[in-house]
Amino acid sequence: MREDNKCSLFRLIIPAFPEVNIFTRVAKKTTALGPIMVATAASKLWGWRVEVIDENNCKGAPLDEKGLPDHSVLQSQRPAEVVGFYCGLSSTMSRVWKLAQFYQSMGATTIAGGWHPHYAPEESLEKGIDIVVHGDGEIVIGQVLTHLAEGKATEHLAGISFLDSQGTCKTNPAELLEEVDLNTLPYPDFGLIRFAKIKIFPIGRIRGCSRKCEFCSVKGKPRWASGQFLFDQVQWLVETRNAREFFIVDDRLEEDRKGALFFFEKIAQAYGNSLSFTVQARLETAEDHQLLAAMNKAGVQVVCIGYESPIDEELKAMRKGYSYRDMLKWTKIYHQFGFLIHAMFIWGYPAQQASVLWLNAKERTKRFKKFIRQAQLDTVQILRAIPIIGTELRSRLAKENRLFSLEVLPWEKYDGNYACFQPDDMSLRELQEIPTKLMKKFYDPMSFFRIALRAVAFPIDYLLRGWDTWHRGWRNDLKKYGGHLFIKGWLKRYHRDNFLEELEKMHTFRDQAKDQ
Ligand code: SF4
Repeated sequence: MREDNKCSLFRLIIPAFPEVNIFTRVAKKTTALGPIMVATAASKLWGWRVEVIDENNCKGAPLDEKGLPDHSVLQSQRPAEVVGFYCGLSSTMSRVWKLAQFYQSMGATTIAGGWHPHYAPEESLEKGIDIVVHGDGEIVIGQVLTHLAEGKATEHLAGISFLDSQGTCKTNPAELLEEVDLNTLPYPDFGLIRFAKIKIFPIGRIRGCSRKCEFCSVKGKPRWASGQFLFDQVQWLVETRNAREFFIVDDRLEEDRKGALFFFEKIAQAYGNSLSFTVQARLETAEDHQLLAAMNKAGVQVVCIGYESPIDEELKAMRKGYSYRDMLKWTKIYHQFGFLIHAMFIWGYPAQQASVLWLNAKERTKRFKKFIRQAQLDTVQILRAIPIIGTELRSRLAKENRLFSLEVLPWEKYDGNYACFQPDDMSLRELQEIPTKLMKKFYDPMSFFRIALRAVAFPIDYLLRGWDTWHRGWRNDLKKYGGHLFIKGWLKRYHRDNFLEELEKMHTFRDQAKDQ
């Protein structure tokens, strides 16, 4: 690609969140696994240098006037011939398009991969992206970069979308690609990220999911690498990067139960519980005591669980496959095994028209409060239902004409902090405001005083109830106070923008226009 026969540079960018959100703090200590895997695969190609810029974890990079990495400086210091963008979150797409247009104007080829452009390639191709990749990014990127380096056309490659000479979007399906054996993938090379400090290492071995939750965009028959492969990854990261903390990104670690059990038993044999793991699992995995015991021995501390709702009617609409009755029982089991639970909820899940019984907002709030109190969850996250691109939920709401247009509600707002559709079983205000009220109640300011009290009472509490109980309470209060400060800051910005008032106004106009 370069006339001077030197290596070409492929820069992969993980775009900044549009605003501070609940993931901002943790994002400064970690990164996204998918782009690191793609960058690692690209770095094995002869003639290519590869670097990753994670805009959410970027200390010491040149910054622009908004405090974001300054790409004009990065590009002038080290020009990239090809720039890739990680597009896993719809809320970051406007940042992607802005940067893509800048890099295009510098003569670079721009590539996007991730769920958002996968489901809507044309939109990105019209906004600064030259090629959208689908399927296993590690394979497609190799083909694309090799063709670009040799000056060959890429239009025939499987697993890409592009605009043809008429400006029409063409897609060569990823199914034409040979399915990669995940055991043959290289280990993620975190040394490729510039400016980032990684404390929590994301690792994984499972892709796809066998469940069919209506609101989720994870599709495709599940497949996985072996438990041994994941163990080898951990061992390599411990040895080469002194890694101690890991986040297993697999959406459901029990998708391959045998492999998960093997992995945790092997970790316990090799490291005892000296490493720390955060995992994601389904709530009903609580029934699998053998797996929970192995996880506990291997140092799993936090289990992130998509509870979604303590209301049966909503669970049914989401197709979660369990009911409220079992939720308390399963939560108790996780606690008995000593895990901290990070519980994720969805507020205001829209009713399917066929539902016979649906509760009003007051009753739903009561049920949420009651469940959170009874379950004694360690941390919670309550977000509004997001009609994510590519989901059945989005198609259903679109059919019912309940989605706000992107002019009114752009993709930036698709982060769970904003109402994205017109509810028909509660007011727009209830959809928007109740989750924040529930979060405020959980992350209460009194936790500040409890932290001090716990510190003073430590010697007695330690003797009476032991380290684990004291530490759990102390840690949870620290998290609660941190959460309280975050919500306070977020609300300040939210009220300044008058989001709800603007949305209500626009909708009154729309409804009036419809009635005329
Ligand atoms: S929400 Fe979790 S269990 Fe449901 S389809 Fe998505 S990844 Fe699978």
